[in-house]
Amino acid sequence: MRTDTAQPVRLSDYRAPDYLIEAVDLDIKLHLNATHVRARLSVRPNPLGRPGAPLVLDGDGLKAAMVLLDGVALDLGANALSPDRLTLSEPPRTAFELTIDTLVDPSANTQLMGLYRSGSAYCTQCEAEGFRRITYFLDRPDVLSVYTTRIEAEKAQAPVLLGNGNLVESGDITGSTRHYAIWHDPHPKPCYLFALVGGDLGSIHDRFTTTSGRNVELGIYVEHGKETRVAYAMDALKRCMRWDEEAFGREYDLDVFNIVAVSDFNMGAMENKGLNIFNDKYVLALPQTATDLDYAHIEGVIAHEYFHNWTGNRITCRDWFQLCLKEGLTVFRDQEFSSDQRSRPVKRIADVRTLRAAQFPEDSGPLAHNVRPETYLEINNFYTPTIYEKGAEVIRMLKALIGAEAFRKGMDLYFDRCDGMAATVEDFIACFAKVAGRDLTHFMRWYTQAGTPALSVSSDYDADAKTFTLTLAQSTAPTPGQPAKLPLVIPVALGLVGADGDLPLTTKAPDEDGGASAHECASGVFELTTASRRIVFHTVAERPAPSVLRGFSAPVKLDLDSNADDLLTLAERDSDLFNRWQAIQTLATRLLTTSVGAIRAGGLPKPDTRFAEALGGVLGAFASDPAFTAQAISLPTEADIAREIGRDVDLDAIHMARRELRRSVGAQLQPRLLSAYEALSNDAPYSPDARSAGARALRNAALDLICAGDARTGADIAMRQFQSAHNMTEQFGALAVLSMVAGDQREQALDAFYRTHASDPLVIDKWFALQALIPETETYERVRGLMEHHAFTYANPNRLRSLIGSFAANLTQFHAADGRGYDLIASVVMEIDSRNPQVAARLLGAFRTWRSMEAGRQAHAQLALKRVAATQGLSADVRDIVDRSLNLLTKERATDTLDSFRSRFSPRPAR
Ligand code: ZN
Repeated sequence: MRTDTAQPVRLSDYRAPDYLIEAVDLDIKLHLNATHVRARLSVRPNPLGRPGAPLVLDGDGLKAAMVLLDGVALDLGANALSPDRLTLSEPPRTAFELTIDTLVDPSANTQLMGLYRSGSAYCTQCEAEGFRRITYFLDRPDVLSVYTTRIEAEKAQAPVLLGNGNLVESGDITGSTRHYAIWHDPHPKPCYLFALVGGDLGSIHDRFTTTSGRNVELGIYVEHGKETRVAYAMDALKRCMRWDEEAFGREYDLDVFNIVAVSDFNMGAMENKGLNIFNDKYVLALPQTATDLDYAHIEGVIAHEYFHNWTGNRITCRDWFQLCLKEGLTVFRDQEFSSDQRSRPVKRIADVRTLRAAQFPEDSGPLAHNVRPETYLEINNFYTPTIYEKGAEVIRMLKALIGAEAFRKGMDLYFDRCDGMAATVEDFIACFAKVAGRDLTHFMRWYTQAGTPALSVSSDYDADAKTFTLTLAQSTAPTPGQPAKLPLVIPVALGLVGADGDLPLTTKAPDEDGGASAHECASGVFELTTASRRIVFHTVAERPAPSVLRGFSAPVKLDLDSNADDLLTLAERDSDLFNRWQAIQTLATRLLTTSVGAIRAGGLPKPDTRFAEALGGVLGAFASDPAFTAQAISLPTEADIAREIGRDVDLDAIHMARRELRRSVGAQLQPRLLSAYEALSNDAPYSPDARSAGARALRNAALDLICAGDARTGADIAMRQFQSAHNMTEQFGALAVLSMVAGDQREQALDAFYRTHASDPLVIDKWFALQALIPETETYERVRGLMEHHAFTYANPNRLRSLIGSFAANLTQFHAADGRGYDLIASVVMEIDSRNPQVAARLLGAFRTWRSMEAGRQAHAQLALKRVAATQGLSADVRDIVDRSLNLLTKERATDTLDSFRSRFSPRPAR
C-alpha cells in the first residue's frame, strides 16, 4: 500500500516520457494465490525524451522473479529493483526488449486495484494506477502500446477467459486441467485501459451492425443465475451504440464488445478497451429487484462506459491532470443520450440536483479544486463531482456559447485531429476555437479556477420608457490556494415572461449602454464576461417576470431579486420547464430559510398557504407530465437548505423547518394528492420506459407528501402499496415512506422486506441504506446494530457504502450535535483504510462541509478529523483527504495560482 509519504505531482512538471513501449506481450497464468505474469515489453527511446535517461518503471508492491534485457538475465540490486520501482540506469540507446516475471496474489488483493478476485472470478482494475500492481511499467496515460494477452487458467475454475480487443486463439493445454485464450487489441492504448477476466460466468449474447456494416458481437457476463437480469443492460447498450453514430458520428471499432459484471468494485464501472468491467449494480435489473431509478442509472452508466471508447480510449489523456477531458466530456455525452431517450427537462432537473448536492458542497469547502487540477498527492482522490459533473457543465456551456452546429463541428474536428493521441484540454478547446473562429482563452478559466461563482441579478421596470433593465454581477469566493478570483465567461439564458407567455427580446446595439447583440436576443443566451453587465430591454409593454439561467445554463449559484409574484408567474407559465421547477424550489427555499431563522430564535415557522396552492396548481396538471410533476412537488432537501444558509448551519433547525413545511403542504393538499395517487394506480405489466416511470415517481412522491401531512393515513396507504406492489419501484417507494414513521408498522415492513430479498445482495443494500438514512436520533444505534448483522461486511464496497456511506449522507444524524456521527465515520475510515484506501478516502469526504456547521458541530468534526490525522501509517489516499480537510496543505497548494493557466498555452515541452 502506498502510505502517507506521497510526493505532490504537478502539472507544470509534465515532461514527455523518455521511453515508449510500443508493444506489450503478456502471458498470465492465473492461480488463486500466485499468479505468474510474464511481460515482454518492446521499448524504444522517445525522440521527444532525454537521450540516455534512465528507464524507471513503476511498481506497487510487486515481487519480480526475473528481468531479462534482450534475452539476457539482469542482476539487479535492491537499488535497481524494489517493490515500487524497476530502474535501468543505462538502458540501450536503440530499441530493446525487456522481459519481466512477477508474481501476484489476487486473493489477498483487498484494495481491488490490479488483479483481484470478486466472487469466484478473477478480474482487473487498472485506472488510475493499478497496472503497476500487475507488472513493472511506464504507468502513465501518454505511453500507448499494442497489447497481446495470453491468459491461462484451470478450466473448471475459469472456463471463461476474456481480454481486450479480439480473440485470436484459444484451446486446452494437453495433459493438463488448464486452458488458455489469446486476445489481441490492435488499438494502441495506455495501460490503465488494460483488463482481463477469468471465471465461471454465465452470459447473454447479441449482435450489433454499425452504420458502415461492421458486425459486432456483444456479450454480457455475470455470475451464474443472473443471466435473466441482463436484458435491459443489453438493450441500453444497443441503443447507445446507435445514438453515438447518429449524434456524434462515432462507430464502434472492434469485432467484439464485452461487459462483465462483478460484485466487488470500488467505483461504478470501467471503460477498458472492448472489455468494460462493471459494478453489477449498474448491470443487473429485473422489475422485482430494481427501481426505475436503478434502470435509469444502468442506462446512463452503460452509455457512459461505451462512449468512453471515443472520448477516453481512442483519444486519451496526456496526464491525469487532464482527467476531465475524458470524464467531463463523457458525462456530458451520457447526459445527452439519456435526455434523448427520456424527457430532456426532467433529466436536466435530475442532473442539476446531483450537481448541487455533490459538486457545490465540494466547491465551497476545503476539498475544492479546479476542473483541471494543477497538483495532486493521490490521483484516486480526483475522481470527483468537480471533474465529472462540473466538467460536463463546462462542455454544456461551451455548446451554449458557440451554438449546436459549431459544437458538433468542433467535436468532429477533435475526433479527426486527436484520434490516437494522448491529448490535453488545450488540444480539445483549440478545435472549438478554430471552428467557431473565437478566442476561448477567457473561457479556459472554467478549467483553472475553482469555486462556484455567485451570479446576482436585479431588475428594474420603467413603465414610462417601457424598458426593463437587468443587472448581472458575478463573484467567486476564495478557495484553498486561490485567494483572488477573476470573472468567468458565463452564458446566461434569459427569457421575459409576461401575462401571455414569453415576450420578444429587443435591445439596442451592443456598443450602446446596456445593449446586447442580435445574436444574443435571437438565441436568448447572453454572455457575462466581466464582473457585471447591464442589459436594457426595450418596448417591454408590461412588467415581466425575468426567467434567468434557463435550463441552468451555467453552474453558478443564482441570487435573484424576484419577488414571490414573479416566482409564482414562472412556476405557472414559464416556457422553460427547468425554471418552472426552479421557481418552486426558490419559493420553498425562501420559506424554509425564514423558518430556520424563526426556529433558531426560539419561535415557530409561519404557515404559508399560497405556496401550497402553487404546488396544488402544478399537481393539477399532473397527467400531462407526471415525471416533471414528481420533481416539482419534491421540496428542497435538508442539504439544499443547508447550502443556501451557507454558514453556522444547524441541521436540527433545518430538519424541523422542512418537516413543518411538508406537513402543512401535505395536509392542505391531501384531497388532491389522494386523487392523483388513485388516478395513477395501474395494473399494466411493468415497463421501465420514461413515461411509466414518471407515473410511478409521481405516485410515490404524492404518497410521501400525504404521509408528511398525515402520518396515520399515509402509513396505511403505504402499507397497502407495500403489500400489493408489483415491482421494486412500488415496493421500495412504499417502504421508504413507511421508514419515516416510527413504530411497529415500519419494523414489520422492514423485516418482511429482508425476508423476501435475503438472497439478493443488491436489494439488501437498499435495505441497509434506507435504515441508515432515517432522520431520527435512534438511527445511530440502529446503524451500530446493523454493523453486527451477519449480512454486513467491510469487504464489499457496495455493502459498506449502503450502510456506512448512507449514514454519512444522513445529514441530521451524521452531523448530530453531540458529534457521535462524526466519530462513527472517522472510526470506520480508520478501520477500513488498510484494507481498501480508496473506499476509505471517499467515505472521509463526507466531512467536506464541516466548516459550514455551527460552532459546536465544527468543534466535534475537527476533533474527529484530527483523530484520523494523528493515526500512523495512513494510506496516501486518506492522508491527502484528511490533511486537505483540515487545511494542512494550504501552503503547498498555494502554487495552484490563477494566472499560471496562461503558461499552459505555450507549446508542449520538446523533451
Ligand atoms: Zn468515465
